[in-house]
Amino acid sequence: MLPVVVIAGRPNVGKSTLFNRLAGRRIALVADTPGVTRDRKQAEAKLRGRDVTLIDTAGLEEAAPETLAGRMRAGSASAVEQADLVLFVIDARAGVTPADAHFAQWLRRQGKPVLLVANKAEGRVANSAILDSYALGLGDPVGVSAEHGEGVADLMAEIADRLPPEEEAAEADDEEADRPLKMAIVGRPNAGKSTLLNRLLGEERMITGPEPGLTRDAVSVTLTDAQGRAVEIVDTAGLRRRARVEEALEKMSVGSAIHALKMAEVVVLTLDAVQGIQDQDLQIARLVEREGRACVVALNKWDAVADRNATRKAIMERLEDSLAQMKGIPVVTLSALTGAGVDRLLPAVRAAHEVWNTRVPTGELNRWFEHALEAHQPPLVNGRRLKLRYVTQAKARPPTFVVFGTRAEQTPEDYTRYLVNGLRGTFKLPGTPIRLQLRGTK
Ligand code: GDP
Ligand code: GDP
Repeated sequence: MLPVVVIAGRPNVGKSTLFNRLAGRRIALVADTPGVTRDRKQAEAKLRGRDVTLIDTAGLEEAAPETLAGRMRAGSASAVEQADLVLFVIDARAGVTPADAHFAQWLRRQGKPVLLVANKAEGRVANSAILDSYALGLGDPVGVSAEHGEGVADLMAEIADRLPPEEEAAEADDEEADRPLKMAIVGRPNAGKSTLLNRLLGEERMITGPEPGLTRDAVSVTLTDAQGRAVEIVDTAGLRRRARVEEALEKMSVGSAIHALKMAEVVVLTLDAVQGIQDQDLQIARLVEREGRACVVALNKWDAVADRNATRKAIMERLEDSLAQMKGIPVVTLSALTGAGVDRLLPAVRAAHEVWNTRVPTGELNRWFEHALEAHQPPLVNGRRLKLRYVTQAKARPPTFVVFGTRAEQTPEDYTRYLVNGLRGTFKLPGTPIRLQLRGTK
């Protein structure tokens, strides 16, 4: 995830000019789309070797509150919320105005690092205003001229210094690559989970796992897949232990699924293809969706299925009809008993894990967003059209996006679903729960 740098300040202080200066030519251009203001701007920029997402709040002040300071707050609140650093721009020629002072006061309470930028300071004409700006309590101002490019290189260095340390992010990525993928096998009693687990343990090289005779209490086993990468199968104890009492089964399958999938990144939902989909399967699938896990369906007992096409079709239709997020979910038909098809399971799990980890570049995301709004305008709510302005990916695992706009929080369910389906199709995110938050900018 790139650090987010937000440019805020009064209208006309030169935010957009500075944005263009910092972004260079890598600006995500914005078409004049209904529901999107022209001046929505977001770009990826490289500042002193650091990649950042730049957000320009210019033009976001048009919302209702009467005072200028109120409008500034309203317009930039949601952008500031996601910022790693806020550039608070003042006009060094105009000096510090009351609106600047109010905004600064509010900004200090947001608990975000702020860098004070005194713009229009070309030719050193504005020294007195720069001195005045210390009174804002936001530290040392950096004098620049966005229009003439003066001081911009220094500003970039100041920004880079204030970003969260890069090493941390890189280390986290390395750890990520070394860590075994965590998967859980869930499903109804008798779907074939234990058989599948034993088959996987038999076919793949086990790295760590229970000693023979101690299998009953093993919590997890780690094995290597065909690419030599580690896969940890979590919470296997419940699978190996055969329930003694029949009534306990019903409770166990959903109850233990919750535990297993909280520990897992990818869930293998094991279905008995002979029996078809039952309510309990859907219940478990719903849990996977709720917990935001990646999911692969293992369509088990395929050896015992007579009409394979019809069976597959019926099961997938039921699953997708009941659960919107299951669209395009990867399915592996296999037989845990004979071993047929089992070799395709771990590659599918790996692929699902990658989808779950997807980060969509900001530029691509915004291009998609423009087209999506163009193809289907945001609806009218209480007679007024919603203005959705920009979108950003807040995190991965699962992919989570935030759309900002005036009254965005009032976006009806079906339009939200339209956007989620668009994200899923455009960025190839099948079978992973997608989170979409809509945040109002006032
Ligand atoms: P925003 O509305 O805050 O985004 O401000 P703009 O980027 O639209 O700039 C407002 C006005 O200030 C424009 O006329 C710019 O040309 C001008 N401007 C921007 N930066 C500078 C600067 O460094 N020096 C001077 N003299 N004018 C500038
Ligand atoms: P669990 O309760 O989900 O752990 O299910 P088990 O692994 O204990 O399997 C339940 C029953 O289904 C057992 O009798 C298995 O032999 C049988 N079974 C498991 N996998 C398959 C399969 O691929 N094909 C067939 N025909 N039977 C299977």
